[in-house]
Amino acid sequence: MKKYNKFILLLLSIFLIFSGCSNRGRLEIKESSKPKTIESVSEETASETTSEVTSEKTSAARTTTEKSSTEKSKKSLAVSTTKEIKQDHQERLEVHFIDVGQGDSILIKYGDYNMLIDGGSQDRSCYNYLQDQNIDSLDYVIATHPHEDHIGGLIEIVESIEIDTIIMPNVTHTSETFDNFLTSVAFSRAKVFQPNVNDVYNFGDASFTIVAPVSDFYEDLNNYSIALKLNHGDNSFLFTGDIEAISELEIISSNQDISADVLKVAHHGSDTGTTDQFITAVTPSYAVISCAQDNSYGYPDLKVLQRLRDNNIDIYRTDLQGSIIASSDGKSISFNQKPNNGLIAGTLPTTEVLQTITTQTPISAAPQNISETTGEQTVTIEATIKSTVESTVESTVEQTIAQTVTQSSVPPTTTLVTEAPIIQPAVAPYIGNSNTGKFHHSSCSSVDQMNPGNKVPIYDRNDAINQGYVPCKRCNP
Ligand SMILES: [Zn+2]
Ligand SMILES: [Zn+2]
Repeated sequence: MKKYNKFILLLLSIFLIFSGCSNRGRLEIKESSKPKTIESVSEETASETTSEVTSEKTSAARTTTEKSSTEKSKKSLAVSTTKEIKQDHQERLEVHFIDVGQGDSILIKYGDYNMLIDGGSQDRSCYNYLQDQNIDSLDYVIATHPHEDHIGGLIEIVESIEIDTIIMPNVTHTSETFDNFLTSVAFSRAKVFQPNVNDVYNFGDASFTIVAPVSDFYEDLNNYSIALKLNHGDNSFLFTGDIEAISELEIISSNQDISADVLKVAHHGSDTGTTDQFITAVTPSYAVISCAQDNSYGYPDLKVLQRLRDNNIDIYRTDLQGSIIASSDGKSISFNQKPNNGLIAGTLPTTEVLQTITTQTPISAAPQNISETTGEQTVTIEATIKSTVESTVESTVEQTIAQTVTQSSVPPTTTLVTEAPIIQPAVAPYIGNSNTGKFHHSSCSSVDQMNPGNKVPIYDRNDAINQGYVPCKRCNP
């Protein structure tokens, strides 16, 4: 967070120098997401803007809770927005799961109110969609976590669309995309909040509650994802970013009410999440998976599709059906198309291709940078993979995935394998994380939390250092 603060402060001071300290472009960062009262927000907006629409919507739109009294305020908040809002439950709330290829982007429209959860990657799909929908202002932008397939597309949107509030997790990332995103945020007029579980934000006479992240520290960036539950009358939607089983378990353990009619399936349908326990806790009637057709990560996973189907959940998929629009009148939810409940799983590149890529890519130089660039765990060269991915029939999907997962969990360099001692101990004393570039004692608690696909057995400490792995600060291997 230090680095993030310095960065923002530097940008801010440069900007203030050039702008002669004018009010325009003023950046507010609410590090603790310390809630504001409606009154203070109203005063502030009234003094800083002449735009009627903005000031009215701002004062109505946001209410956050005092952390110390979240339980009490959760109930009272729905009542507290009052005058500007039409108490009209007839108004339809629309949730657009935008087809942004590989990534997430969800536009929520409710009368004059607009909200965006993630913006997909930088290919402008989200931006173009917002243009088509005539969206010229957003009350909320939620940047669930700093991976490129979630924040890449937000950069241009933050630069060009009036945004009232941005909510983003308290985590930094060293990618160029994230730096650019922070710059766009710093130069926008939006207020910036960090997520606190149980904080409630008003969205017209609907509202949403922050559900995750529950903890402050995670091994994997995906688990920093903001998850939130949107309530509209009797209907509810649960948005989960890329959370994995660890975050899901924390949410369940924290005894929050996460039951929802519609579940945005976490992490593009990867088997890293959407556990049976989580599905049981949410008990959705509908599930939406956002991913690209023929993506190189093998999303969605067959096991996830199977679990959803076993629970009689209707499945909608952007890879097969394009943008999905769910519409709620506060009592029931309808979709713009029929569900696609087939067990058509994503396929991973074949073993042969992965081997070629592993040898061609200088992963050892900076394992972390590569995962940052791709935004996911598997290292890929898209063009190569696309031309060589085998189309696998349903019955062989599971077998293919099993093979490729084994292949993708090899250490990030081929030399690591060849340099390992000939007589290896049965259990490696160290475990590397191919996603974060850190290594741990095999007994470190972080190892249990790691994705099996990212675990790299390491037999010699020097090897780990030579391969670019950084020692874990917890277990000091
Ligand atoms: Zn993602
Ligand atoms: Zn991610």
